[in-house]
Amino acid sequence: MSKPSTIAIDGSAASGKSTLGALLAQRLGYLYFDTGVMYRAVTWAVLDRRLDPADVEAVSRLAETLTIEVKSNGPDDGRLYTVLADGQDITWPIRSPQVETFVSLVSSYPRVRAALTAQQRRIAAAGSIVMVGRDIGTVVLPEADLKVFMHASAEERARRRCREIAAQGKAANYDEILAAMRERDKQDQEKPISPMIPAADAVIIETDHLSLEAVLDRLEHLIREV
Ligand code: C5P
Repeated sequence: MSKPSTIAIDGSAASGKSTLGALLAQRLGYLYFDTGVMYRAVTWAVLDRRLDPADVEAVSRLAETLTIEVKSNGPDDGRLYTVLADGQDITWPIRSPQVETFVSLVSSYPRVRAALTAQQRRIAAAGSIVMVGRDIGTVVLPEADLKVFMHASAEERARRRCREIAAQGKAANYDEILAAMRERDKQDQEKPISPMIPAADAVIIETDHLSLEAVLDRLEHLIREV
């Protein structure tokens, strides 16, 4: 049996999907692509250009014209990849709390989703890819060879995020992070288009009590079974 060529990994914020997707891609020698960075890049550009995130027309037009590039090289400052918007390096700014506040709203607009989904399909067309997001198995690549949906409780995800922030030497407030996480989940799940739900044929992995290694083993096992 041949290895699956397109692997879709979906899941909520801090579910571990990005770290796992990247590790899996590395082990398989596949391209890793995190679609969340595209929605973050558009949101960053909206704020940078002082547009109103509630202005559907202006935000949609921006999403349709912004050139987003994701490159594997860049400064050695802990980044997995470099994200450029119209040539400007926005790898770190797209992780800001301001971007997180507005990214679900911006990504709820149909024209924003259509523009980014088309680009994501082009990127995946060559195969040998692990694509990570919220709607990869349901909308972007419904024909993916393997679909995985990662799930973890909001409390566990907030603890993980706190540890990540603390590891960067910054102060983290667990209650604030948990509240923001729950709010973003709610918005992502209640989006009228492309809500965050597992595809009917996705394998659901609960990661609350599993180590990174254990989840990776599960994924590799699944890949051998496909
Ligand atoms: O995965 P990440 O937290 O970076 O995604 C940021 C936001 O982008 C999500 O909260 C969601 O609103 C949006 N997103 C999306 N569809 C995707 C990936 C991300 O709507 N495929």
